[in-house]
Amino acid sequence: MRAFLIFGTFLLFFSSSVAVRDAYAKETNVYHERMRLYKKVETVTQIPWYYLAAIDQYERSIRLSRKDLPKPDRLIGIYIPPERWAGLTNPNPNDKNPLTIQFFNGIGVDGNGDRKASLKNDEDVLYAIAHYLLSYGVDNDNLKIGLWNYYHRDKSVGIIVGTAKVYRHFGRLDLDNRVFPMPIRSNHTYRSTWGDARGWGGRRIHEGTDIFADYGVPVRATNYGIIEMKGWNKFGGWRVGIRDINNTYHYFAHLSGFAKDLHVGQIVEPGMVIGSVGSSGYGPPGTSGKFPPHLHYGMYKDNGYTEWSFDPYPHLALWERQERIEARKKK
Ligand SMILES: [Zn+2]
Repeated sequence: MRAFLIFGTFLLFFSSSVAVRDAYAKETNVYHERMRLYKKVETVTQIPWYYLAAIDQYERSIRLSRKDLPKPDRLIGIYIPPERWAGLTNPNPNDKNPLTIQFFNGIGVDGNGDRKASLKNDEDVLYAIAHYLLSYGVDNDNLKIGLWNYYHRDKSVGIIVGTAKVYRHFGRLDLDNRVFPMPIRSNHTYRSTWGDARGWGGRRIHEGTDIFADYGVPVRATNYGIIEMKGWNKFGGWRVGIRDINNTYHYFAHLSGFAKDLHVGQIVEPGMVIGSVGSSGYGPPGTSGKFPPHLHYGMYKDNGYTEWSFDPYPHLALWERQERIEARKKK
């Protein structure tokens, strides 16, 4: 019986580690396939791969956060509504004929050379976006104009341009690593307080998790991303906002100071020190000490037209746990 149990446990362990390995292999394969497609379209259109990757990633993120859009189910996450693909006045919204689509000013094109412009073909979809942008030009400024005409939203353009910078900087797509915002060996405590009434600042709900630690404990970027905001706010004190490549905004408040040369537009990676724990805020610039030192950590999701706060606690707990497991492995 015991032997059977041991064997069973071994089998369970073995099969779960195989599943993890398979999932990992599948992920790397997906990145490899995506990059191949971006580079292929870049070769033909001269639109840099990292812009195509950023558009694709942005579209994937908004589809995952919205109920009115189909969930991404293919290699490329870009969603083009059928009427935009076929052309608004096209009597056939499911048109696949590149010529009639062109006639009705649809954006659908045949990218893979099968003479059909199919919304369900990754290559056609990616070429369609590239082809649309190409009509404005392929340098940074013209790409921005093209993106604005496509999305009609400054924030979407800013997010895509920022994500493109991140991809360009690292030269790869697998940027999934995450860490806890303080060194895990530091002395810190936190609990789930998202949605609680605030002690300070009136009747707003608490949009984050407070991680209590001593003055000066390093505060670190948790994800790959770009610094979108840095400065003073009368509630948040000295604070930093980082947009990650999944279009989640991470807000770090009450810092005692910023890392040297930290600036808006800077690319960050998990573990990079951005400042240190403090108690700044709740007064004019420089006010400090009105409450115990802590990092207020907030997370916000953008869905293409609005942004809202969600509870960072489960993510913080997960990142901390994963880092502890990694640290133990290295010993
Ligand atoms: Zn807080």
